[in-house]
Amino acid sequence: MAGKTKYIFVTGGVTSSLGKGIISASLANILQARGLSVTIQKFDPYINVDPGTMNPYEHGECYVTDDGAETDLDLGHYERFLNVTTSQDNNVTTGRIYNTVISHEREGKFLGKTVQVIPHITDEIKRNFKILGDSGLYDVVITEIGGCVGDIESLPFIESIRQFRNDLGHENCLVIHLTLIPYLKASGEQKTKPTQHSVKTLLETGIQPDILVCRTERGLSMDIRRKIALFCNVPVDSVIEALDAKSIYDVPILMLKEKLDKRVLKKLKIKADKHAHMEEWKNFLGKLKNPTAEVHVGLIGKYVELQDAYKSIKEALIHAGAENETKVYVHWIHSDELNKSNLEQKLGELNAILVAPGFGERGLEGKIATCQYARENKIPFLGICLGMQCAVIEFARNMLGLKDAATGEMGKRSKNKVIDLMEGQKKVSKKGGTMRLGAYDCRIKKGSKVAKIYGKEKVSERHRHRYELNNNYVKDLEKAGMKSVGINPQNNLVEIIEVAHHPFYIGTQFHPEYKSTALKPHPLFVSFIKSARDHHKNGDSRTD
Ligand code: GLN
Repeated sequence: MAGKTKYIFVTGGVTSSLGKGIISASLANILQARGLSVTIQKFDPYINVDPGTMNPYEHGECYVTDDGAETDLDLGHYERFLNVTTSQDNNVTTGRIYNTVISHEREGKFLGKTVQVIPHITDEIKRNFKILGDSGLYDVVITEIGGCVGDIESLPFIESIRQFRNDLGHENCLVIHLTLIPYLKASGEQKTKPTQHSVKTLLETGIQPDILVCRTERGLSMDIRRKIALFCNVPVDSVIEALDAKSIYDVPILMLKEKLDKRVLKKLKIKADKHAHMEEWKNFLGKLKNPTAEVHVGLIGKYVELQDAYKSIKEALIHAGAENETKVYVHWIHSDELNKSNLEQKLGELNAILVAPGFGERGLEGKIATCQYARENKIPFLGICLGMQCAVIEFARNMLGLKDAATGEMGKRSKNKVIDLMEGQKKVSKKGGTMRLGAYDCRIKKGSKVAKIYGKEKVSERHRHRYELNNNYVKDLEKAGMKSVGINPQNNLVEIIEVAHHPFYIGTQFHPEYKSTALKPHPLFVSFIKSARDHHKNGDSRTD
Protein backbone atom coordinates (compact mmCIF):
# COMPACT_ATOMS: atom_id res chain seq x y z
CA MET A 1 0.00 0.00 0.00
CA ALA A 2 1.85 3.04 -1.34
CA GLY A 3 -0.20 5.96 -0.05
CA LYS A 4 -3.59 7.47 -0.46
CA THR A 5 -6.34 5.29 -1.96
CA LYS A 6 -7.34 6.32 -5.47
CA TYR A 7 -10.88 5.85 -6.81
CA ILE A 8 -11.99 4.79 -10.28
CA PHE A 9 -15.65 4.81 -11.31
CA VAL A 10 -16.91 2.77 -14.24
CA THR A 11 -20.18 3.91 -15.76
CA GLY A 12 -22.00 2.52 -18.79
CA GLY A 13 -23.81 4.11 -21.70
CA VAL A 14 -25.79 3.31 -24.87
CA THR A 15 -27.01 -0.08 -23.68
CA SER A 16 -26.68 -2.46 -20.78
CA SER A 17 -24.80 -5.78 -21.01
CA LEU A 18 -21.67 -4.24 -22.54
CA GLY A 19 -19.55 -5.95 -19.90
CA LYS A 20 -18.80 -3.27 -17.28
CA GLY A 21 -18.09 -6.07 -14.81
CA ILE A 22 -15.52 -7.69 -17.08
CA ILE A 23 -13.88 -4.37 -17.97
CA SER A 24 -13.68 -3.44 -14.27
CA ALA A 25 -12.29 -6.88 -13.37
CA SER A 26 -9.80 -6.74 -16.25
CA LEU A 27 -8.56 -3.28 -15.28
CA ALA A 28 -8.19 -4.43 -11.69
CA ASN A 29 -6.35 -7.52 -12.89
CA ILE A 30 -3.72 -5.56 -14.84
CA LEU A 31 -3.28 -3.00 -12.06
CA GLN A 32 -2.81 -5.89 -9.63
CA ALA A 33 -0.23 -7.32 -12.06
CA ARG A 34 1.65 -4.04 -11.68
CA GLY A 35 1.97 -4.60 -7.96
CA LEU A 36 -1.02 -2.62 -6.71
CA SER A 37 -3.57 -3.75 -4.22
CA VAL A 38 -6.98 -3.36 -5.85
CA THR A 39 -10.60 -4.14 -5.03
CA ILE A 40 -13.83 -3.63 -6.94
CA GLN A 41 -17.28 -2.76 -5.65
CA LYS A 42 -20.61 -2.72 -7.43
CA PHE A 43 -23.37 -0.18 -6.83
CA ASP A 44 -26.73 -1.35 -8.16
CA PRO A 45 -29.57 1.09 -8.69
CA TYR A 46 -32.52 -1.19 -7.85
CA ILE A 47 -34.63 -0.98 -4.69
CA ASN A 48 -34.12 -4.56 -3.46
CA VAL A 49 -31.82 -4.46 -0.44
CA ASP A 50 -29.81 -7.24 -2.10
CA PRO A 51 -30.41 -9.61 -5.04
CA GLY A 52 -31.05 -12.57 -2.69
CA THR A 53 -34.81 -12.28 -3.05
CA MET A 54 -34.76 -12.04 -6.85
CA ASN A 55 -35.70 -14.82 -9.22
CA PRO A 56 -32.66 -16.04 -11.23
CA TYR A 57 -34.58 -15.18 -14.43
CA GLU A 58 -34.59 -11.55 -13.27
CA HIS A 59 -31.03 -11.21 -12.21
CA GLY A 60 -29.00 -14.31 -13.00
CA GLU A 61 -27.09 -16.05 -10.25
CA CYS A 62 -26.96 -14.71 -6.74
CA TYR A 63 -23.30 -14.80 -5.73
CA VAL A 64 -22.44 -15.45 -2.09
CA THR A 65 -19.38 -14.10 -0.30
CA ASP A 66 -17.49 -15.55 2.67
CA ASP A 67 -19.30 -13.21 5.07
CA GLY A 68 -22.66 -14.47 3.81
CA ALA A 69 -23.71 -11.52 1.65
CA GLU A 70 -26.05 -12.37 -1.23
CA THR A 71 -24.66 -10.25 -4.03
CA ASP A 72 -24.62 -9.40 -7.71
CA LEU A 73 -22.97 -11.94 -9.98
CA ASP A 74 -20.31 -9.42 -11.01
CA LEU A 75 -18.68 -9.98 -7.61
CA GLY A 76 -18.02 -13.51 -8.84
CA HIS A 77 -16.07 -12.05 -11.77
CA TYR A 78 -14.12 -9.82 -9.41
CA GLU A 79 -13.03 -12.81 -7.30
CA ARG A 80 -12.33 -15.00 -10.32
CA PHE A 81 -10.16 -12.33 -11.97
CA LEU A 82 -8.39 -11.07 -8.86
CA ASN A 83 -8.11 -14.14 -6.69
CA VAL A 84 -9.10 -12.09 -3.63
CA THR A 85 -12.29 -12.37 -1.63
CA THR A 86 -15.05 -9.77 -1.55
CA SER A 87 -17.63 -9.04 1.13
CA GLN A 88 -20.93 -7.31 1.84
CA ASP A 89 -19.13 -3.96 1.50
CA ASN A 90 -18.40 -4.73 -2.16
CA ASN A 91 -22.06 -4.64 -3.19
CA VAL A 92 -24.41 -1.80 -2.36
CA THR A 93 -27.92 -1.22 -3.74
CA THR A 94 -30.21 1.80 -3.73
CA GLY A 95 -32.45 -0.26 -1.45
CA ARG A 96 -29.68 -0.63 1.10
CA ILE A 97 -28.85 3.09 0.99
CA TYR A 98 -32.51 4.07 1.54
CA ASN A 99 -32.92 1.41 4.22
CA THR A 100 -30.08 2.98 6.23
CA VAL A 101 -31.22 6.57 5.70
CA ILE A 102 -34.84 5.77 6.59
CA SER A 103 -33.87 3.91 9.76
CA HIS A 104 -31.66 6.87 10.76
CA GLU A 105 -34.64 9.15 10.19
CA ARG A 106 -36.80 6.90 12.42
CA GLU A 107 -34.11 7.06 15.12
CA GLY A 108 -34.24 10.86 14.96
CA LYS A 109 -30.64 11.19 13.78
CA PHE A 110 -31.44 14.04 11.37
CA LEU A 111 -32.50 16.34 14.21
CA GLY A 112 -35.73 17.57 12.70
CA LYS A 113 -34.39 18.24 9.20
CA THR A 114 -36.27 17.38 5.99
CA VAL A 115 -34.58 14.25 4.68
CA GLN A 116 -33.81 14.57 0.95
CA VAL A 117 -32.06 12.82 -1.94
CA ILE A 118 -29.45 15.57 -1.89
CA PRO A 119 -27.67 15.71 0.53
CA HIS A 120 -28.88 12.78 2.69
CA ILE A 121 -29.05 9.96 0.14
CA THR A 122 -25.95 11.20 -1.72
CA ASP A 123 -24.04 11.53 1.57
CA GLU A 124 -24.86 7.91 2.42
CA ILE A 125 -23.79 6.82 -1.09
CA LYS A 126 -20.48 8.72 -0.72
CA ARG A 127 -19.91 7.16 2.71
CA ASN A 128 -20.33 3.75 1.09
CA PHE A 129 -18.01 4.66 -1.83
CA LYS A 130 -15.28 5.12 0.78
CA ILE A 131 -15.76 2.18 3.16
CA LEU A 132 -13.31 -0.14 1.42
CA GLY A 133 -10.84 2.66 0.71
CA ASP A 134 -10.90 3.72 4.37
CA SER A 135 -9.83 0.22 5.42
CA GLY A 136 -6.32 1.24 4.35
CA LEU A 137 -5.90 -2.04 2.46
CA TYR A 138 -6.15 -0.77 -1.09
CA ASP A 139 -4.19 1.44 -3.45
CA VAL A 140 -7.13 1.52 -5.84
CA VAL A 141 -10.87 1.02 -5.37
CA ILE A 142 -12.82 0.51 -8.59
CA THR A 143 -16.56 1.20 -8.35
CA GLU A 144 -18.82 -0.17 -11.04
CA ILE A 145 -22.20 1.56 -11.36
CA GLY A 146 -24.97 -0.77 -12.54
CA GLY A 147 -27.33 0.23 -15.35
CA CYS A 148 -26.85 2.99 -17.92
CA VAL A 149 -26.32 6.72 -17.51
CA GLY A 150 -29.59 8.50 -18.16
CA ASP A 151 -31.63 5.93 -16.21
CA ILE A 152 -33.79 7.72 -13.64
CA GLU A 153 -32.86 5.26 -10.90
CA SER A 154 -29.09 5.65 -11.22
CA LEU A 155 -29.12 9.45 -11.02
CA PRO A 156 -28.29 9.67 -7.27
CA PHE A 157 -25.21 7.47 -7.86
CA ILE A 158 -24.03 9.65 -10.76
CA GLU A 159 -24.63 12.84 -8.75
CA SER A 160 -22.66 11.31 -5.88
CA ILE A 161 -19.71 10.62 -8.20
CA ARG A 162 -19.79 14.28 -9.25
CA GLN A 163 -19.68 15.46 -5.64
CA PHE A 164 -17.11 12.84 -4.64
CA ARG A 165 -14.75 13.84 -7.45
CA ASN A 166 -15.04 17.48 -6.43
CA ASP A 167 -14.33 16.54 -2.79
CA LEU A 168 -11.28 14.43 -3.63
CA GLY A 169 -9.90 16.23 -6.68
CA HIS A 170 -9.31 14.89 -10.17
CA GLU A 171 -5.89 13.38 -9.37
CA ASN A 172 -7.59 11.04 -6.87
CA CYS A 173 -10.73 10.13 -8.71
CA LEU A 174 -11.23 9.10 -12.29
CA VAL A 175 -14.28 8.23 -14.40
CA ILE A 176 -14.22 5.60 -17.12
CA HIS A 177 -17.25 5.42 -19.38
CA LEU A 178 -17.99 2.20 -21.27
CA THR A 179 -19.91 2.67 -24.52
CA LEU A 180 -20.75 0.92 -27.76
CA ILE A 181 -19.53 1.71 -31.27
CA PRO A 182 -21.99 -0.19 -33.45
CA TYR A 183 -21.18 -1.30 -36.99
CA LEU A 184 -23.88 -0.72 -39.59
CA LYS A 185 -23.66 -3.47 -42.17
CA ALA A 186 -25.82 -1.67 -44.74
CA SER A 187 -23.52 1.35 -44.93
CA GLY A 188 -20.36 -0.52 -43.92
CA GLU A 189 -19.57 2.05 -41.20
CA GLN A 190 -18.88 2.27 -37.51
CA LYS A 191 -21.05 4.84 -35.79
CA THR A 192 -19.92 7.17 -33.02
CA LYS A 193 -23.21 9.01 -32.47
CA PRO A 194 -24.58 6.77 -29.68
CA THR A 195 -21.31 7.32 -27.79
CA GLN A 196 -21.50 11.08 -28.32
CA HIS A 197 -25.05 11.07 -26.94
CA SER A 198 -24.19 9.00 -23.92
CA VAL A 199 -21.21 11.22 -23.07
CA LYS A 200 -23.52 14.22 -23.45
CA THR A 201 -25.90 12.64 -20.94
CA LEU A 202 -23.02 12.25 -18.50
CA LEU A 203 -21.99 15.87 -19.10
CA GLU A 204 -25.52 17.04 -18.28
CA THR A 205 -25.01 15.57 -14.82
CA GLY A 206 -21.74 17.44 -14.46
CA ILE A 207 -19.33 14.63 -15.23
CA GLN A 208 -16.75 14.73 -18.01
CA PRO A 209 -15.45 11.16 -18.37
CA ASP A 210 -11.65 10.83 -18.37
CA ILE A 211 -11.41 7.64 -20.40
CA LEU A 212 -13.79 6.04 -22.88
CA VAL A 213 -13.74 2.29 -23.32
CA CYS A 214 -15.51 1.47 -26.58
CA ARG A 215 -17.03 -1.95 -27.15
CA THR A 216 -16.79 -2.87 -30.82
CA GLU A 217 -17.10 -5.88 -33.09
CA ARG A 218 -14.36 -4.49 -35.33
CA GLY A 219 -11.20 -2.61 -34.44
CA LEU A 220 -11.30 1.18 -34.08
CA SER A 221 -9.35 2.95 -36.81
CA MET A 222 -7.25 6.00 -35.93
CA ASP A 223 -9.82 8.17 -37.72
CA ILE A 224 -12.66 6.87 -35.57
CA ARG A 225 -10.58 7.28 -32.42
CA ARG A 226 -9.84 10.89 -33.34
CA LYS A 227 -13.48 11.58 -34.04
CA ILE A 228 -14.59 10.11 -30.71
CA ALA A 229 -11.86 12.07 -28.91
CA LEU A 230 -12.90 15.34 -30.58
CA PHE A 231 -16.61 15.02 -30.00
CA CYS A 232 -16.37 13.61 -26.51
CA ASN A 233 -13.65 15.94 -25.28
CA VAL A 234 -10.99 13.38 -24.27
CA PRO A 235 -7.40 12.95 -25.50
CA VAL A 236 -7.13 10.41 -28.30
CA ASP A 237 -5.06 8.00 -26.19
CA SER A 238 -7.94 7.91 -23.72
CA VAL A 239 -10.14 6.28 -26.34
CA ILE A 240 -9.70 2.60 -25.60
CA GLU A 241 -10.84 -0.13 -27.94
CA ALA A 242 -12.62 -3.10 -26.35
CA LEU A 243 -12.92 -5.68 -29.10
CA ASP A 244 -15.35 -8.56 -28.69
CA ALA A 245 -13.23 -11.36 -27.24
CA LYS A 246 -13.51 -15.14 -27.60
CA SER A 247 -13.18 -15.58 -23.85
CA ILE A 248 -13.76 -13.10 -21.04
CA TYR A 249 -10.34 -14.13 -19.72
CA ASP A 250 -8.71 -12.56 -22.82
CA VAL A 251 -9.93 -9.09 -21.86
CA PRO A 252 -7.11 -8.21 -19.40
CA ILE A 253 -4.59 -8.87 -22.20
CA LEU A 254 -6.62 -6.76 -24.64
CA MET A 255 -6.76 -3.91 -22.10
CA LEU A 256 -3.03 -4.19 -21.55
CA LYS A 257 -2.43 -3.93 -25.30
CA GLU A 258 -4.59 -0.80 -25.37
CA LYS A 259 -2.49 0.59 -22.47
CA LEU A 260 -5.52 1.17 -20.24
CA ASP A 261 -3.29 0.60 -17.19
CA LYS A 262 -0.83 3.28 -18.34
CA ARG A 263 -3.57 5.85 -18.91
CA VAL A 264 -5.05 5.21 -15.48
CA LEU A 265 -1.72 5.30 -13.65
CA LYS A 266 -0.70 8.52 -15.36
CA LYS A 267 -3.99 10.30 -14.73
CA LEU A 268 -4.11 9.28 -11.09
CA LYS A 269 -0.35 9.81 -10.59
CA ILE A 270 0.14 6.33 -9.17
CA LYS A 271 3.59 4.79 -8.89
CA ALA A 272 3.50 1.11 -9.83
CA ASP A 273 5.74 -1.63 -11.19
CA LYS A 274 7.07 -0.79 -14.64
CA HIS A 275 5.66 -3.91 -16.25
CA ALA A 276 2.55 -5.93 -15.61
CA HIS A 277 3.44 -9.39 -14.31
CA MET A 278 1.00 -11.44 -16.33
CA GLU A 279 2.97 -14.70 -16.55
CA GLU A 280 0.58 -16.77 -14.45
CA TRP A 281 -2.44 -15.37 -16.25
CA LYS A 282 -0.88 -16.11 -19.66
CA ASN A 283 -0.07 -19.60 -18.48
CA PHE A 284 -3.75 -20.09 -17.58
CA LEU A 285 -4.79 -18.73 -21.00
CA GLY A 286 -2.30 -21.05 -22.70
CA LYS A 287 -3.89 -24.08 -21.06
CA LEU A 288 -7.38 -22.77 -21.76
CA LYS A 289 -6.63 -22.28 -25.45
CA ASN A 290 -4.71 -25.47 -26.15
CA PRO A 291 -6.79 -28.37 -24.95
CA THR A 292 -5.63 -31.90 -25.58
CA ALA A 293 -9.02 -33.50 -25.02
CA GLU A 294 -12.70 -32.61 -24.80
CA VAL A 295 -15.50 -33.65 -22.49
CA HIS A 296 -19.25 -33.22 -22.55
CA VAL A 297 -20.83 -32.30 -19.23
CA GLY A 298 -24.59 -32.19 -18.74
CA LEU A 299 -25.78 -29.41 -16.45
CA ILE A 300 -29.20 -30.39 -15.17
CA GLY A 301 -31.14 -27.42 -13.87
CA LYS A 302 -34.38 -25.60 -14.22
CA TYR A 303 -33.15 -22.15 -15.20
CA VAL A 304 -31.10 -23.40 -18.16
CA GLU A 305 -32.64 -20.90 -20.61
CA LEU A 306 -30.61 -18.25 -18.82
CA GLN A 307 -27.03 -19.41 -18.45
CA ASP A 308 -26.28 -16.46 -16.15
CA ALA A 309 -28.34 -18.32 -13.53
CA TYR A 310 -25.43 -20.79 -13.24
CA LYS A 311 -22.59 -18.33 -13.90
CA SER A 312 -20.17 -19.49 -11.22
CA ILE A 313 -20.68 -23.17 -12.10
CA LYS A 314 -20.03 -22.43 -15.77
CA GLU A 315 -16.84 -20.52 -14.95
CA ALA A 316 -15.66 -23.17 -12.45
CA LEU A 317 -16.01 -25.76 -15.23
CA ILE A 318 -13.91 -23.54 -17.51
CA HIS A 319 -11.19 -23.18 -14.83
CA ALA A 320 -11.17 -26.92 -14.20
CA GLY A 321 -11.08 -27.58 -17.95
CA ALA A 322 -8.02 -25.36 -18.35
CA GLU A 323 -6.29 -27.09 -15.44
CA ASN A 324 -6.88 -30.45 -17.16
CA GLU A 325 -6.07 -29.00 -20.61
CA THR A 326 -9.51 -30.18 -21.59
CA LYS A 327 -12.20 -28.35 -23.50
CA VAL A 328 -15.45 -28.59 -21.55
CA TYR A 329 -18.67 -28.52 -23.56
CA VAL A 330 -21.60 -27.81 -21.27
CA HIS A 331 -24.95 -29.26 -22.33
CA TRP A 332 -27.75 -27.33 -20.65
CA ILE A 333 -30.54 -29.76 -19.89
CA HIS A 334 -33.89 -28.81 -18.42
CA SER A 335 -34.71 -31.06 -15.47
CA ASP A 336 -38.41 -30.62 -16.27
CA GLU A 337 -37.92 -32.54 -19.51
CA LEU A 338 -36.29 -35.57 -17.92
CA ASN A 339 -38.10 -38.70 -16.89
CA LYS A 340 -37.15 -42.34 -16.53
CA SER A 341 -38.08 -43.14 -20.14
CA ASN A 342 -35.81 -40.59 -21.84
CA LEU A 343 -32.72 -40.56 -19.60
CA GLU A 344 -30.65 -42.78 -21.88
CA GLN A 345 -31.51 -40.68 -24.90
CA LYS A 346 -30.84 -37.33 -23.16
CA LEU A 347 -27.88 -38.25 -20.95
CA GLY A 348 -26.37 -41.34 -22.57
CA GLU A 349 -23.62 -39.54 -24.49
CA LEU A 350 -22.37 -37.39 -21.63
CA ASN A 351 -18.99 -37.82 -19.94
CA ALA A 352 -20.21 -36.32 -16.67
CA ILE A 353 -23.36 -35.01 -15.04
CA LEU A 354 -23.79 -32.04 -12.73
CA VAL A 355 -27.10 -31.57 -10.93
CA ALA A 356 -27.48 -27.89 -10.14
CA PRO A 357 -28.66 -26.00 -7.05
CA GLY A 358 -32.21 -24.72 -6.97
CA PHE A 359 -35.43 -24.04 -5.11
CA GLY A 360 -38.98 -25.30 -5.43
CA GLU A 361 -40.78 -28.32 -6.84
CA ARG A 362 -40.53 -27.80 -10.61
CA GLY A 363 -38.08 -30.23 -12.20
CA LEU A 364 -37.27 -31.96 -8.92
CA GLU A 365 -38.26 -35.48 -10.02
CA GLY A 366 -36.17 -35.08 -13.21
CA LYS A 367 -33.16 -34.27 -11.04
CA ILE A 368 -33.80 -37.25 -8.79
CA ALA A 369 -34.09 -39.59 -11.79
CA THR A 370 -30.81 -38.15 -13.14
CA CYS A 371 -29.03 -38.95 -9.87
CA GLN A 372 -30.13 -42.57 -10.15
CA TYR A 373 -29.04 -42.78 -13.78
CA ALA A 374 -25.57 -41.36 -13.02
CA ARG A 375 -25.16 -43.63 -9.99
CA GLU A 376 -26.24 -46.86 -11.67
CA ASN A 377 -24.35 -46.19 -14.89
CA LYS A 378 -21.20 -45.06 -13.09
CA ILE A 379 -21.12 -41.67 -14.83
CA PRO A 380 -19.05 -39.04 -12.97
CA PHE A 381 -21.54 -37.03 -10.93
CA LEU A 382 -21.42 -33.82 -8.96
CA GLY A 383 -24.52 -32.68 -7.08
CA ILE A 384 -24.46 -29.18 -5.66
CA CYS A 385 -26.80 -28.12 -2.83
CA LEU A 386 -30.25 -29.14 -4.13
CA GLY A 387 -28.24 -31.49 -6.40
CA MET A 388 -26.81 -33.24 -3.35
CA GLN A 389 -30.23 -33.30 -1.68
CA CYS A 390 -31.67 -35.04 -4.77
CA ALA A 391 -28.86 -37.61 -4.66
CA VAL A 392 -29.73 -38.41 -1.04
CA ILE A 393 -33.47 -38.70 -1.80
CA GLU A 394 -32.78 -41.01 -4.73
CA PHE A 395 -30.44 -43.19 -2.68
CA ALA A 396 -32.93 -43.44 0.17
CA ARG A 397 -35.76 -44.39 -2.19
CA ASN A 398 -33.87 -46.98 -4.19
CA MET A 399 -31.21 -48.33 -1.85
CA LEU A 400 -32.97 -48.03 1.52
CA GLY A 401 -36.40 -48.85 0.12
CA LEU A 402 -37.94 -45.67 1.53
CA LYS A 403 -40.30 -45.08 -1.38
CA ASP A 404 -41.67 -41.82 0.01
CA ALA A 405 -38.24 -40.31 0.81
CA ALA A 406 -38.44 -36.55 0.20
CA THR A 407 -37.22 -33.13 1.19
CA GLY A 408 -39.24 -31.12 3.68
CA GLU A 409 -39.14 -28.27 1.16
CA MET A 410 -41.55 -30.11 -1.17
CA GLY A 411 -42.87 -33.37 0.32
CA LYS A 412 -44.47 -31.87 3.40
CA ARG A 413 -46.53 -35.02 4.10
CA SER A 414 -43.75 -37.59 3.60
CA LYS A 415 -42.87 -39.73 6.62
CA ASN A 416 -39.27 -39.94 5.48
CA LYS A 417 -37.92 -36.45 5.18
CA VAL A 418 -34.32 -37.43 4.51
CA ILE A 419 -33.69 -33.74 3.82
CA ASP A 420 -35.29 -31.43 6.33
CA LEU A 421 -35.40 -27.94 7.69
CA MET A 422 -32.75 -27.09 10.26
CA GLU A 423 -34.08 -26.39 13.76
CA GLY A 424 -32.93 -22.77 13.56
CA GLN A 425 -34.82 -22.25 10.29
CA LYS A 426 -38.20 -23.37 11.58
CA LYS A 427 -39.23 -20.03 12.99
CA VAL A 428 -37.84 -17.92 10.15
CA SER A 429 -40.56 -16.06 8.26
CA LYS A 430 -38.62 -13.24 6.57
CA LYS A 431 -37.08 -14.09 3.21
CA GLY A 432 -34.12 -11.69 2.74
CA GLY A 433 -30.75 -12.84 4.09
CA THR A 434 -32.19 -15.57 6.32
CA MET A 435 -30.79 -18.78 4.80
CA ARG A 436 -27.63 -20.52 6.00
CA LEU A 437 -25.28 -18.18 4.17
CA GLY A 438 -21.56 -17.76 3.72
CA ALA A 439 -18.47 -19.68 4.77
CA TYR A 440 -18.58 -22.60 7.22
CA ASP A 441 -15.84 -25.02 8.18
CA CYS A 442 -16.05 -28.59 7.02
CA ARG A 443 -14.02 -31.52 8.40
CA ILE A 444 -13.19 -34.16 5.80
CA LYS A 445 -13.07 -37.83 6.75
CA LYS A 446 -9.67 -39.46 6.43
CA GLY A 447 -9.39 -42.06 3.69
CA SER A 448 -12.32 -40.67 1.68
CA LYS A 449 -12.03 -39.81 -2.00
CA VAL A 450 -12.81 -36.19 -1.14
CA ALA A 451 -9.90 -36.09 1.35
CA LYS A 452 -7.58 -37.13 -1.46
CA ILE A 453 -9.05 -34.53 -3.81
CA TYR A 454 -8.69 -31.64 -1.35
CA GLY A 455 -5.39 -32.91 0.02
CA LYS A 456 -6.42 -31.60 3.46
CA GLU A 457 -8.81 -32.39 6.25
CA LYS A 458 -10.26 -29.01 7.05
CA VAL A 459 -11.81 -26.77 4.42
CA SER A 460 -14.11 -23.78 4.40
CA GLU A 461 -16.87 -23.48 1.81
CA ARG A 462 -19.82 -21.18 1.15
CA HIS A 463 -23.47 -22.02 1.71
CA ARG A 464 -26.90 -20.80 0.58
CA HIS A 465 -29.77 -23.04 1.67
CA ARG A 466 -32.33 -23.77 4.39
CA TYR A 467 -32.54 -27.56 4.28
CA GLU A 468 -30.00 -30.19 5.41
CA LEU A 469 -29.41 -33.92 5.33
CA ASN A 470 -31.45 -35.34 8.22
CA ASN A 471 -28.95 -36.93 10.62
CA ASN A 472 -31.48 -39.66 11.60
CA TYR A 473 -30.80 -41.34 8.26
CA VAL A 474 -27.00 -41.05 8.17
CA LYS A 475 -26.29 -44.51 9.58
CA ASP A 476 -28.56 -46.35 7.14
CA LEU A 477 -27.24 -44.35 4.20
CA GLU A 478 -23.66 -45.19 5.23
CA LYS A 479 -24.46 -48.89 5.51
CA ALA A 480 -25.91 -48.92 2.02
CA GLY A 481 -22.83 -47.15 0.57
CA MET A 482 -23.57 -43.42 0.69
CA LYS A 483 -20.87 -42.06 2.97
CA SER A 484 -20.99 -38.78 4.88
CA VAL A 485 -17.43 -37.64 4.27
CA GLY A 486 -17.61 -33.94 5.14
CA ILE A 487 -19.03 -32.80 8.47
CA ASN A 488 -19.52 -29.35 9.91
CA PRO A 489 -17.56 -29.46 13.19
CA GLN A 490 -19.77 -26.84 14.89
CA ASN A 491 -23.18 -28.37 14.34
CA ASN A 492 -22.43 -31.89 13.10
CA LEU A 493 -24.35 -31.40 9.84
CA VAL A 494 -23.39 -33.42 6.77
CA GLU A 495 -21.73 -31.20 4.15
CA ILE A 496 -20.42 -33.79 1.66
CA ILE A 497 -21.56 -37.25 0.61
CA GLU A 498 -19.82 -39.72 -1.67
CA VAL A 499 -20.97 -43.06 -3.01
CA ALA A 500 -18.66 -46.05 -2.78
CA HIS A 501 -17.86 -48.24 -5.79
CA HIS A 502 -18.33 -45.43 -8.24
CA PRO A 503 -15.58 -43.56 -10.17
CA PHE A 504 -16.88 -40.15 -8.97
CA TYR A 505 -20.18 -39.62 -7.20
CA ILE A 506 -20.00 -36.62 -4.92
CA GLY A 507 -22.60 -34.28 -3.50
CA THR A 508 -21.93 -31.09 -1.57
CA GLN A 509 -24.39 -29.15 0.57
CA PHE A 510 -22.20 -26.07 -0.03
CA HIS A 511 -21.40 -24.35 -3.32
CA PRO A 512 -17.80 -25.09 -4.35
CA GLU A 513 -18.26 -23.00 -7.51
CA TYR A 514 -18.17 -19.73 -5.54
CA LYS A 515 -14.54 -20.29 -4.63
CA SER A 516 -13.13 -21.32 -8.00
CA THR A 517 -10.90 -18.69 -9.62
CA ALA A 518 -8.96 -18.64 -12.88
CA LEU A 519 -5.65 -19.12 -11.10
CA LYS A 520 -7.02 -21.32 -8.30
CA PRO A 521 -9.49 -23.75 -9.84
CA HIS A 522 -11.58 -25.60 -7.27
CA PRO A 523 -10.18 -29.10 -6.52
CA LEU A 524 -13.63 -30.77 -6.66
CA PHE A 525 -14.27 -29.36 -10.13
CA VAL A 526 -10.73 -30.22 -11.29
CA SER A 527 -11.19 -33.81 -10.16
CA PHE A 528 -14.70 -33.96 -11.65
CA ILE A 529 -13.39 -32.96 -15.09
CA LYS A 530 -10.45 -35.35 -14.76
CA SER A 531 -12.91 -38.10 -14.02
CA ALA A 532 -15.06 -37.06 -17.02
CA ARG A 533 -11.95 -37.23 -19.15
CA ASP A 534 -11.13 -40.73 -17.90
CA HIS A 535 -14.70 -41.82 -18.43
CA HIS A 536 -14.34 -40.63 -22.01
CA LYS A 537 -10.95 -42.26 -22.51
CA ASN A 538 -12.12 -45.60 -21.27
CA GLY A 539 -15.10 -45.55 -23.56
CA ASP A 540 -17.15 -47.63 -21.25
CA SER A 541 -15.53 -47.06 -17.89
CA ARG A 542 -18.57 -48.17 -16.02
CA THR A 543 -16.64 -50.28 -13.58
CA ASP A 544 -15.17 -49.21 -10.29
N1 GLN B 1 -33.72 -25.39 -1.85
C1 GLN B 1 -32.69 -26.05 -1.13
C2 GLN B 1 -32.53 -25.49 0.28
O1 GLN B 1 -32.98 -24.41 0.57
C3 GLN B 1 -31.37 -25.99 -1.87
C4 GLN B 1 -30.85 -24.61 -2.08
C5 GLN B 1 -29.76 -24.51 -3.11
O2 GLN B 1 -29.63 -25.42 -3.97
N2 GLN B 1 -29.00 -23.44 -3.11
O3 GLN B 1 -31.97 -26.14 1.13
